[in-house]
Amino acid sequence: MMSESEKWKKINKSVKERPKVQEYKNWKELSPIPISLPIDGNIGTTGDWRTFRPIIKEGCNKCGICWMYCPEGVIKRKEDGTFEIDLRYCKGCGICAKECPTKNIEMIRESDIKDD
Ligand code: SF4
Ligand code: SF4
Repeated sequence: MMSESEKWKKINKSVKERPKVQEYKNWKELSPIPISLPIDGNIGTTGDWRTFRPIIKEGCNKCGICWMYCPEGVIKRKEDGTFEIDLRYCKGCGICAKECPTKNIEMIRESDIKDD
């Protein structure tokens, strides 16, 4: 069986030979890519200045699309297959909520959240 790195080398041979995203059956066939982990910046964490907070509601179907789209890499898969958001580093962009196929993520204004 071909390893992931061998597959990637094969795919990367030339741009022309590279499969189009639509040719994948689902996101699980995409090759892994390196991402950087969130860290504290000079003025604190991203979560300190966020305006909207994403809340994952009951009824998640465990598809992983939010995890795949989050530009900050702050959504993590839990042992039961559902996902949680590391709010220290989430910037509140709302991409996860927009992409969730079951509309299971609600964006709440931070100033409307009473207890933390
Ligand atoms: S709001 Fe943006 S940064 Fe926060 S978890 Fe969703 S996609 Fe990631
Ligand atoms: S995109 Fe929505 S349904 Fe899919 S794992 Fe994330 S919260 Fe659950």
